Amino acid sequence: MTGGTVCLTFDLDAIAGALGRGQLTATPISRGEFAAVAVPRLLHLLASRGITSTWFVPGHTALVYPELVAEIVAADHEVAVHGHAHRNVAAMEEADERSDLECSLQALKAVTGELPRGFRAPAWDLSDHSVALLTEHGLIYDSSLMGHDYAPYPCRLPDEVTDDGIRWGEPTSLIEVPVSWSLDDFPHLEFMRSAAGTLPGLRNPQEMFTNWTGDLDYMLRDVRDGVLTVTMHPEVIGRGHRLLALERWLDHVVGRQVTFSTAGDVAQRYAAGKAFGIYAPR
Ligand SMILES: [Zn+2]
Repeated sequence: MTGGTVCLTFDLDAIAGALGRGQLTATPISRGEFAAVAVPRLLHLLASRGITSTWFVPGHTALVYPELVAEIVAADHEVAVHGHAHRNVAAMEEADERSDLECSLQALKAVTGELPRGFRAPAWDLSDHSVALLTEHGLIYDSSLMGHDYAPYPCRLPDEVTDDGIRWGEPTSLIEVPVSWSLDDFPHLEFMRSAAGTLPGLRNPQEMFTNWTGDLDYMLRDVRDGVLTVTMHPEVIGRGHRLLALERWLDHVVGRQVTFSTAGDVAQRYAAGKAFGIYAPR
């Protein structure tokens, strides 16, 4: 056993989730509203286990629920930014992406008193301008890409892929704390029906946590100083049977050789030269 780090991250989409999808009738709004019911439950659970975490908050959520975001800060969790109105930056023109980012940073700073260190793209995709824009605005990390499972790595300027191969983009100082759909509660658990298709969700949460335990077990066996980053949404994980499953999973993880960390602290330690996620099979 070599030990490792677990980053619990929560995306507080709230009403911005409905806004970003353009679903502004009563029920989609109320689905986002449920996040406000769930946050105190999650903060209580985390406090009871002494666990720190990172909350990715759209600027819109900070405008709608400033007290809730202040509670997250007061409980010593990291608040990072998750777009303004939960729209896909990869589909934006550069000027729109810039103004979306600036709105979101302003809204978060008004509540937390400081600029966030990290960004997570609402649709987990970046435009050709994102890395430069995030760096220009003083962010030190992104958490939207999927190029590793246990190690942070430098974000690159846009790669150029052609039929003949790839020209890799220049690595930058922006650090990636990578994510994965398999480590996200939304596709496992949330039911969504839209013009784009149906996300069946509604699985037994125990299946999802068994998958996550498998990723943790592999990391602790074969990877030195790995970082496992999982993503949850209060409006998804905050229902009774899922909270009980999360509680059981956290009690299992707390008993393993791991440290809980914010994504921002992982990024900062990586920037300072710490090596994470070294493949070292026994
Ligand atoms: Zn989101």
